[in-house]
Amino acid sequence: MASETTKVKNWQTATQAEGFARLDAEAFPIFEKGWVWLVGAGPGAPGLMSLLCYHAMQNCDIVVYDALVNPDILRWVRAGTELEYAGKRGGKPSPTQRDISFRLVELAQMGKRVLRLKGGDPFMFGRGGEESQTLAKSGIPFRIVPGITAGVGGLAYAGIPATHRDTNHSVIFLTGHDATGKMPVNVNWKAIALASPVIVMYMAVKNLGEIASALMDGGRKPDDPVSIISNASLPQQQVASTTLAEAGTFVAAHEPPTPAIVVVGHASDWREMLDWYKPHMKANPIG
Ligand code: SAH
Repeated sequence: MASETTKVKNWQTATQAEGFARLDAEAFPIFEKGWVWLVGAGPGAPGLMSLLCYHAMQNCDIVVYDALVNPDILRWVRAGTELEYAGKRGGKPSPTQRDISFRLVELAQMGKRVLRLKGGDPFMFGRGGEESQTLAKSGIPFRIVPGITAGVGGLAYAGIPATHRDTNHSVIFLTGHDATGKMPVNVNWKAIALASPVIVMYMAVKNLGEIASALMDGGRKPDDPVSIISNASLPQQQVASTTLAEAGTFVAAHEPPTPAIVVVGHASDWREMLDWYKPHMKANPIG
């Protein structure tokens, strides 16, 4: 079918400022007092946050944010809003997940509009499930605002399509790290190795040698391409290429910066042609 071009109608034709104003008045959900919004901020570039994320930042009383939230994103918060960091800082022990969940309950019970801001998507290796469970059990009303997860947005910024009809009809997302920091043992590595041509791994750099061995034991080819995308969508983004056989020694020798996403499989072959995020673009503060 030939593609059709239609003219944009209604509020979309307004200037950007008018568009925001109209949406504010008519279309955004009200951020009520005593509510918690669990919001994904995207992988880093401020331009990758959603309109609902921006709306929440403009209408909350307090933002409880994680280490992975780009500080540039916090500049979009309304002036005067409280900011609370929920992570390790200044040598103090990091708050446990339980502490953070109960802090959200406490703030909501104080009648605040609480924005729980997380990197990427809150339900993708982000413990948003655990936090929302505590809210549900405590009778705190909440909303989940999805975000662009690093395992999708990060690949896009590296010119690696997560799926492509010529390479893969499926993709697996997994974590290379369990609660103790070790390679997860409750993952069937043999099944994973064979199940999908493309495997996208979060938190996998430290254990990459071990993971690569497990995948090769499971039947994955030693020359399977591996890309390591560090600081995806940020000005300091770096992408390194290696193979499964070399991955362990590569990581030990080059210590790719973290956070990083690791992609295994031939999706990386497209990068040579599709690597669009050029150094001069990295000066753009929005993405
Ligand atoms: N909820 C997040 C993931 C949290 S787990 C999301 O949906 O993206 C933390 C891991 O996410 C990091 O160890 C890294 O593997 C990945 N990650 C997050 N931001 C990243 C970024 N900008 N670049 C590369 N990897 C990133």
